Amino acid sequence: MPPLPNSIEARDIAFHLHPYTNARRHEEIGPIVMAKGDGVYVEDVDGKRYIEAMAGLWSVAVGFSEKRLVEAASRQMAELPYYHAFTHKTHAPVVDLAEKLIQLAPVPMSKVHFTNSGSEANDLIVKLLRYRANGMGEPHRKKIISRLRGYHGVTLASASLTGLPNNHRSFDLPMEGILHTTCPHHWREAHEGESEEAFATRCADDLEAMIAAEGPETIAAFIAEPLMGAGGVVVPPATYWEKVQAVLRRHDILLVADEVICGFGRTGEMFGSTYYDMKPDIMTVSKALSSSYLPISAVLVNERVYGPIADESAKIGTFGHGFTTSGHPVAAAVALENLKIIEERDLVANARERGVRLQAGLRTLSDHPLVGEVRGVGLIAGVELVTDKKARIAVQPPGALAARAFGLIQERGVISRAIGDTLAFCPPLIIDDSQIDTIVETVRLGLDELA
Ligand code: PLP
Repeated sequence: MPPLPNSIEARDIAFHLHPYTNARRHEEIGPIVMAKGDGVYVEDVDGKRYIEAMAGLWSVAVGFSEKRLVEAASRQMAELPYYHAFTHKTHAPVVDLAEKLIQLAPVPMSKVHFTNSGSEANDLIVKLLRYRANGMGEPHRKKIISRLRGYHGVTLASASLTGLPNNHRSFDLPMEGILHTTCPHHWREAHEGESEEAFATRCADDLEAMIAAEGPETIAAFIAEPLMGAGGVVVPPATYWEKVQAVLRRHDILLVADEVICGFGRTGEMFGSTYYDMKPDIMTVSKALSSSYLPISAVLVNERVYGPIADESAKIGTFGHGFTTSGHPVAAAVALENLKIIEERDLVANARERGVRLQAGLRTLSDHPLVGEVRGVGLIAGVELVTDKKARIAVQPPGALAARAFGLIQERGVISRAIGDTLAFCPPLIIDDSQIDTIVETVRLGLDELA
């Protein structure tokens, strides 16, 4: 049914170019208009309730109705609604948050720089690495290695780091100097009979071969999510991180951990780097940092990274980077309160404990005729769908099967995300057992209807 004239739906079609949406298809089907949030639920304007099993976009850790975040924002708005941090200015929320992030970091970090989105944070990594290389008198050391299927954002530089075709196609990306190595997706990429460990060795060997081919002295850093999210929830095989970090150490290449999804409890540890025993030199965080109630992200750097950057800024006279809203006081106050809630309510432990149930529950779907693989850690999971289990392929075009499953599951009141032929789940960290059971049951019913 076409939307009523002048309705939100009609005006959305008329005026709004949506992110990550097929624009022509949107003109035909219009939007679902969300009106309210409540715990792990969201409700649309027609009163239909959904479990938001993706926490929005992998982000709303404390749920959709946390009054303490509203109050923190309101207090800060009344006190100092805006100030910047350019040329030696500061304010309490940004200092408190920087200190808190340094305290929480899984490895010794030296400084925090604030940005507004995960994409901006990763974009800055590319700039920081150039600035540092020039500062160290090593202008040749600027290449960055990322991974196929890795997701790091959508600005020119962060979309270049992203290893997904739809972020490059028709945008004339990736930029020069950014390379993509093997995706550690054992189920999809391993050879017949190749063990997880042998596959991890091959991934590390591929990385080392790329470094050798480019010249180790030209590589600034390797960037990766501890566990891939938007590439389809790809859990690295056992020993992957141990082997990859050994390669990086051998060639003196920095490790950048993109903790934008994993950070603040998602895996059942405070950071994905803790879960996988990674020792990053740089970390990017966002999303669960403020539960996305307000936009904020941050880049943490260790002394090895900070030192040459600080020296270069002294030489030039300034570190010529920063946004009007970098370290926005209201966003920083909300992030601080959000981190306090995560700690006080031990939502990291809740993610670990409820995560066991989510993983076990979804794995009961493994023998479903449409399920190829179920994978995940803590409160992040992927269910990869197939129509031919043996050949591990789904009906064409790619993504069509998961898109249909997604629609059926959403109609039944659970919002997931279709990524290629994988359904992703990443619920708020406050979720309880019965809500997890509802998600699993709803997925099963949706898949049964499709089978
Ligand atoms: N890095 C990772 C790992 C992400 O998952 C995302 C977003 O999903 C980003 C970066 C980009 O963040 P944003 O959408 O805030 O720009």
